[in-house]
Amino acid sequence: MEEDLTTDLVALQSHLETLFKRVQQNSATLQKFRAFEIRLLKLNSLPDTIDHLLEEAKNYFDLDMISLCLIDETGEIAKTLIDNGYPCNSKNGLMLLDSDTSIKSTAIQPYIGVYENSQCSDFFPHIEKQPASVAITPLTRRSKYLGTLNLGSYQLDRFADNMATDFIEHLSSVISVCLENNLHVEEIKRISYIDVLTGVNNRRFLEQRIGEELKRSQRNAEPLSCQFFDIDFFKPVNDKHGHQGGDLVLSLVAATIKHQLRDNDVFVRYGGEEFVALLSNTDEAKALETAERVRKAIQTLVIAVNDISVSVTVSIGVSTYVPDGTSISIDGEIATRLVKSADSALYRAKHNGRNRVENGGIVTDKQVL
Ligand code: GH3
Ligand code: MG
Ligand code: MG
Repeated sequence: MEEDLTTDLVALQSHLETLFKRVQQNSATLQKFRAFEIRLLKLNSLPDTIDHLLEEAKNYFDLDMISLCLIDETGEIAKTLIDNGYPCNSKNGLMLLDSDTSIKSTAIQPYIGVYENSQCSDFFPHIEKQPASVAITPLTRRSKYLGTLNLGSYQLDRFADNMATDFIEHLSSVISVCLENNLHVEEIKRISYIDVLTGVNNRRFLEQRIGEELKRSQRNAEPLSCQFFDIDFFKPVNDKHGHQGGDLVLSLVAATIKHQLRDNDVFVRYGGEEFVALLSNTDEAKALETAERVRKAIQTLVIAVNDISVSVTVSIGVSTYVPDGTSISIDGEIATRLVKSADSALYRAKHNGRNRVENGGIVTDKQVL
């Protein structure tokens, strides 16, 4: 009798210990989850949020792999990430999809269970070893699919189909809110840098980028050229064809100049009928050659305004920053001198007869007094 009681007591104690261990484990998981969530909510850029999901979540939740599918129908997410210097094409675990069809067919509901090739392989591409169990959770906000978060483990019992899903659903809701929020911020930023009439970037964008371009030029010891464009006799175009006609000419001139530049060149409407370009890793000769090509392209452009053919010309001033390694001027001061020098050359181009390119010469780190 006494022996029986002792055996029961030992069994009970062992059971209690197991329960206590489980409570401790659950509490640790909850704490990790809270820490992960707080960190996620504090991040305020899309690249940081994606990095946190792909790099940190694995450690926080003891996962063997994690991937993230984001729907990017317009390519804006890819563009934003590239503009931020984020290696979105080579980032392991990040997939940008141009449509939501593959996600819709597979993961309208979260899938939690055994890894099945036919159902799961799209969500875990380029992996060396398949996971044994997975959780594939759709990320949705206001009935819109943002993508899926895909968690994988080599342990079969890590994600079982009878598992409670509330934890994963909560996680995916928080991630969805953060992603949507960051996507909106990026969209607002992008819109605030665009000129409504011409669709090219605006002066604010130039001000934001010129410092970065100068730093890159110094870091790589590469020249950076600036071109300042002004449409010749534009006021008479307005007078003759009305402001709507003038607007059309402005838009097509902007598109024609942009077409002559490289995709990664900064090109902005500086104001009115004036535009500025920054050409990275471009020396004086190349910048003058490009400017001449633009001048010719505008000269041959024929724009139909209310069935009347309109042609305009542009005057262009060019200047080139060549870092000499001394960097005694601060960036803002070099930026001002670079743009001013191109502007003065433009003024000379106007003075010397318009429809021409003038060279403002080299701007160096040392200010010439
Ligand atoms: P110049 O060859 O010396 O540059 O002569 P210009 O007539 O081009 O120069 P001016 O500075 O006298 O005139 C610029 C004109 O650009 C005046 C202004 O009405 C027009 N303009 C500025 N912004 C816009 C715009 O958004 N739309 C239209 N249609 N016209 C604009
Ligand atoms: Mg002007
Ligand atoms: Mg003008």
